[in-house]
Amino acid sequence: MSEPVLKIENLTKRFGGFVALDGVDLAVFPGERLGLIGPNGSGKSTLVNCITGVLRHEHGSIRFDGHDLAGLQPHSRTRLGLARSFQIPKPFASMSVLDNLLVPLFYAAHAHDHKARHAGEAAEEAREILRQLGLADKAEQTSATLTQAEMRKLELARAIAARPKLLIADEAMAGLSSTEVDEILDILIDMKARGIAVIMIEHIMRAMMRFSERVAVLVVGRKIADGDPEAVMCNPEVEKAYLGE
Ligand code: ADP
Ligand code: MG
Repeated sequence: MSEPVLKIENLTKRFGGFVALDGVDLAVFPGERLGLIGPNGSGKSTLVNCITGVLRHEHGSIRFDGHDLAGLQPHSRTRLGLARSFQIPKPFASMSVLDNLLVPLFYAAHAHDHKARHAGEAAEEAREILRQLGLADKAEQTSATLTQAEMRKLELARAIAARPKLLIADEAMAGLSSTEVDEILDILIDMKARGIAVIMIEHIMRAMMRFSERVAVLVVGRKIADGDPEAVMCNPEVEKAYLGE
């Protein structure tokens, strides 16, 4: 098997005396789709914040694509190929949808040391990403005019343009209709074809089961299960954790 793109070992995070993450181990392999679930307050977003560098952990290690992330600022982690999709997308509202993509495209060309890119080439690539995500006819509109679902697609388009190795989607589908959930899910599932591993955190179980090649479960800061989605969902400890909610 290949080396994991993300390798977390014995991660511990405290808020004062409260232990939010307690010795968590987690690996994600290149292109893999991992579902991360757990009752509210179990530490999922805290784990994401430790990975992206928004929070500092106390113990353990996080390695990403061969780099130890200790001490690295969030923007340096982004440059290594770590992307995150937020619950509330924040594209540049006054820019056109197309221009919103040109920013990360130029940034990625720079960060990955690709040959300097012609503006025309970048615009072509941006339009191709928009077409694949169903936003082609919105290219010239300002992003302020987009619906919530289109805004989330634009955010995923921006993530794709930055050519990450791992994308973390923390409740990226909250508040969307069932049709919109399926559209976003299709985009996340297609990340594999782009070589992008995805960690998806989601409460919608139907989406979780369709998406996940593997599921990991956090309960009060501990990982209690990790493996085949069907098997994990039948695990008595997991059932108990959810019944308690
Ligand atoms: P989840 O995303 O699984 O719902 P969180 O990671 O957001 O859970 O929260 C885990 C626990 O840590 C919760 O009890 C929450 O109140 C606490 N917590 C999260 N962030 C902070 C913070 N910045 N300061 C203090 N406590 C926090
Ligand atoms: Mg959360």
